[in-house]
Amino acid sequence: MSKTSKGNVNELDLMEFYKERTYINDIKSGKVEVAGWVHDKRDLGKIRFILLRDKTGIIQVTAIKGKVDEGVFKAMGSVSGESVIYVKGEVKQSKQAPGGKEIVPEKIIILAQAEMPLPIDVSDFSKTELPKRLDYRFLDLHRKKIQAIFKVQSTIQEAYVEFMEKEGAVFAQFPSIISSSSEGGTELFEAKYFEQKAYLSQSCQLYKQMLACSMEKVFAIFTVWRAEKHNTIRHLNESRQFDYEQAFADEFVVMDVLGRCVQYIVKKVIEENKSELESLDVKLKVPGVKYMTFKEAAVIAKKYKVHVGKDDLSGDAEKKLSELFPDNVIFVHDWPLSGKPFYIMPKGKELSCGFDAIYNGMEISSGGQRIHLPGLLIERLKAKGLNPKDFKKYVDSFRYGAPPHGGFGIGVERLTMLILNLSNIREAVLFPRDRDRLVP
Ligand code: ATP
Repeated sequence: MSKTSKGNVNELDLMEFYKERTYINDIKSGKVEVAGWVHDKRDLGKIRFILLRDKTGIIQVTAIKGKVDEGVFKAMGSVSGESVIYVKGEVKQSKQAPGGKEIVPEKIIILAQAEMPLPIDVSDFSKTELPKRLDYRFLDLHRKKIQAIFKVQSTIQEAYVEFMEKEGAVFAQFPSIISSSSEGGTELFEAKYFEQKAYLSQSCQLYKQMLACSMEKVFAIFTVWRAEKHNTIRHLNESRQFDYEQAFADEFVVMDVLGRCVQYIVKKVIEENKSELESLDVKLKVPGVKYMTFKEAAVIAKKYKVHVGKDDLSGDAEKKLSELFPDNVIFVHDWPLSGKPFYIMPKGKELSCGFDAIYNGMEISSGGQRIHLPGLLIERLKAKGLNPKDFKKYVDSFRYGAPPHGGFGIGVERLTMLILNLSNIREAVLFPRDRDRLVP
């Protein structure tokens, strides 16, 4: 394959490097070619050190003046922290070097010199505040601790898909541009759709129900947009959900699936993310499951003088329940009908077949059995002050053979935050969209 030069004297043949590269954690002995970021450097006059970092680890590069090429020695002096370099050299065992090995460089190419000063502190003990870190998220992601969060989130997503496939569910995609509110209540972001007014989807609720009524078990990872003007540590305006919907299911079937799903996810994180959990100082246990009615939860909260809403649990009540039943997914069912959306199946006059799931002090999911009977749906829409005409297509989808069904939605960032004990949900999303943030 012939290649024309890109005209850069510091050019690295990336195809050659791709074939020859050794990742730092795989370094044993002999000659190696490595590349990565300048994690730290020290200059003792006649001897210069660089700690080089790639996605797998860190190794020391050591150069003694007169014993290495003069250009190499110079480059080690001039390169700045977080710059990207290529190093070719000989591996030597060294008692003083971290990890017991170092590279004596024969060739160094500075691929990208980082401008100084860096706008945020990227050291292990960085004290830069979250908003500023988010302004420079690309640089914040140089940090091992921050990468650890998203490696764990990657496992969480993988585990969810794996679990659902084992359950025999079909992985589905749904539209994100919709013509009207799917649930009522929540504020929507408006979008222009040619000559029509459209909205960004607040949930895939209605679509997943329609699909479950023919394919029985369906799941999705779906982005939702909610134009709520909140500014809390647990809400985003753009977030992702693990959605699930199953035919021939009531809320207890759904809670069973959800409980096993969270257990599966946490177990996989424990097995696959040992070093990430260590670097985030998180000790995880596979949770148990605990069931209680809303009424029972309210009695417990009152006993501890914690406020309970009329038809919702306060944040403090959620926290108290987790304190009392740590390492459990707590299912609070028989939820007041007035506190659940119109599509949740009523249970008598006051209660519903809806539930919330609480884990590590916060709601991670809500779900329940849905209404599959068009007449009852229309009744509930009216009771919620919604116009059945606006939901005609949805209601009609249950007229031609729709089985009883139910499902849930788990907040992906919320779950990540709670698994990792993060203090703010924005830590669990790469590029958060909140009330004040539209970039980067
Ligand atoms: P909350 O009471 O916490 O505001 P909700 O009852 O509005 O949540 P649902 O619409 O049932 O939530 O969404 C299912 C799950 O998605 C929630 O349990 C939560 O984990 C997550 N979630 C909901 N809203 C948000 C949001 N604004 N930002 C991030 N995650 C969210």
